[in-house]
Amino acid sequence: MINYTDKVVIITGGGSGLGRAAAFSIAKQGGKLVLVDMNKEGLEESKNEILASVPDAQIETVEANVTNEEEVKNYIDFTVEKFGKIDGFFNNAGIEGKQNLTEEYGSNEFEKVINVNLNGVFYGMKYALKVMKEQGYGSIVNTASVGGIRGVGNQSGYAASKHGVVGLTRNSGVEYGEFGISINAIAPGAIMTPMVEGSLRQIGGEDWESVGKEFVSVNPMKRFGKPEEVGNLVAFLLSDAAKFINASVIPIDGGQSYKY
Ligand code: NAD
Repeated sequence: MINYTDKVVIITGGGSGLGRAAAFSIAKQGGKLVLVDMNKEGLEESKNEILASVPDAQIETVEANVTNEEEVKNYIDFTVEKFGKIDGFFNNAGIEGKQNLTEEYGSNEFEKVINVNLNGVFYGMKYALKVMKEQGYGSIVNTASVGGIRGVGNQSGYAASKHGVVGLTRNSGVEYGEFGISINAIAPGAIMTPMVEGSLRQIGGEDWESVGKEFVSVNPMKRFGKPEEVGNLVAFLLSDAAKFINASVIPIDGGQSYKY
């Protein structure tokens, strides 16, 4: 049912973690990819890793900062010039920000996190939707978080940005359904990627692995999620098999969000 032959998918944050895992899953099913990231080395690594197991994969990379609207427009224009269309868009680049109480969080930090996680997602939707509406088809998956559907604590900017991503998803899903476009969000729990390692290090320093063990001890599945588990969900949601799923927020967290 899931077939990406002749499909074109853009992935932001494609140079690491969940973006790379989704790219892997889509490439294995024959999709053509445009990977976008501000980290050039990460992009090269993703491309090389995928080509090592899917040698005939068609992968383009674009270095861009999703907080810069011009650069967002450029990666969308590049994709249309190169491949003529956009079937799927994984609007995923994001940062965790510092962990702190609201009063200590810092206005600059708040602005920085909102800028990447919310403004970046909005700009991406703005330009991708214009193309998809003209085509009369397309699917978008935005990356929210458990922190976008529950109160987790110590993450004002992250919580506000990810709740914002959920709002954008529901709003635009309602607007664009009639044009044959589906827009959904995923709400991952703790998935072991460089971002999660970074936040565990903020809490535990060199002892971050024991902090991680304690963290997942309250997860119903008692473990971290794997990037490929999220990659497979994204590949499903962006495929024709999931066309009637729209304006939804799908947790992928081992049940963690029900524990808050
Ligand atoms: P990651 O740090 O491994 O990957 C994020 C990628 O986004 C990096 O390659 C980074 O260079 C890129 N990026 C960051 N800011 C950017 C910018 N301004 N412009 C372009 N690229 C930028 O993290 P990840 O875990 O793969 O996170 C991916 C998404 O998933 C994020 O939106 C994150 O908030 C979300 N998320 C992750 C988890 C988790 O447990 N890993 C849980 C919930 C949500």
